[in-house]
Amino acid sequence: MFTPAELLEIKTLLTRENKIVILTHYNPDGDAVGSSLGLKHYLKEKGIHAEVIVPNDFPKFLKWMPEAKKTIVAEYKRKVAFDFINEADVIFCLDFNSPSRIGILGEWLSKAKGKKILIDHHQQPELFDFVYSDTIIPATCQMVYHFIEAMGDEKLVNKDIAECLYTGIMTDTGGFRFRSTSATTHRIIANLIEKGADPSIITSNTWDTNTVSRLYLLALILGRIEVVNDGKVAVLYLTREELKKYGFQKGDTEGFVNYGLSIVGVSMSAFFMEDLYDDFIKISFRSKGDVDVNQFSRKFFNGGGHINAAGGKSYESLKDTIETFKTRAREEWL
Ligand code: 5GP
Ligand code: MN
Repeated sequence: MFTPAELLEIKTLLTRENKIVILTHYNPDGDAVGSSLGLKHYLKEKGIHAEVIVPNDFPKFLKWMPEAKKTIVAEYKRKVAFDFINEADVIFCLDFNSPSRIGILGEWLSKAKGKKILIDHHQQPELFDFVYSDTIIPATCQMVYHFIEAMGDEKLVNKDIAECLYTGIMTDTGGFRFRSTSATTHRIIANLIEKGADPSIITSNTWDTNTVSRLYLLALILGRIEVVNDGKVAVLYLTREELKKYGFQKGDTEGFVNYGLSIVGVSMSAFFMEDLYDDFIKISFRSKGDVDVNQFSRKFFNGGGHINAAGGKSYESLKDTIETFKTRAREEWL
């Protein structure tokens, strides 16, 4: 948590007069959108307006969250996004650890004069004016809750805040399953339910939202899932042609990589997807136990994340990327 002195300083910055923006990472997920909107609704309860800005658009299954549709998407509203960041007095940076994770916003953030407040659970955060970084906590949404507590404002948590924070904790823990899900996480979840978050409605809004294109793509990758390196590593992939053929929509492949990890004996799963427009491969890594995919992705695939969940990029062809991956994985673990 921020130190008491930092919290005092942050309190003096959070005023009606100051311009406040909230930024989160590229390809925003449930935790990114949930923490940003949760914080926005908390500030609103204090009578303070904040703008949420994301680098690019996010999936439909996150747009049910209160005020999700008021988010400024920089890829569509570049000038508006730039002006807000440039003129901001305070910039909250949620669920990312480095300006390089927020696309074009990174450059603007680096040059902005506003005080930068980081709340994030990724490894190796870069320098910000105020840093609350904790890689043990499963979701930035949980950290926003701790921040609200530390500000002495738990009583301000309302239904809007509760729904947003619940969503991010649920998605980043894979439905309260991943390793860092703790008793504290569940206590906070209990509080959020008491404040009005409805587990069945939130789950249904977020997860019972399959598109036909998603199911076709899922059937395709499951039908050819490959297990290599003595059954320890699962490999999944999709080509651009396949994405086009089945009418891929943003968010369709969310969670696909977890199917690899669900195979008995597999301790690492990797999902490779050609970008729809640009010549690179987006990679998702998941692992179990001590297999550290954050380090692996940093070392070989221009990425990072958490020990058991990370992402990366490759500029080789899909075939070469997968071959390189299998070799590197064997060198590291077998
Ligand atoms: P996903 O596989 O769901 O896209 O990402 C898993 C985790 O890794 C998330 O916490 C995400 O923020 C992080 N991540 C994904 N892609 C990248 C990347 O290219 N670079 C870094 N540093 N982190 C990433
Ligand atoms: Mn997160």
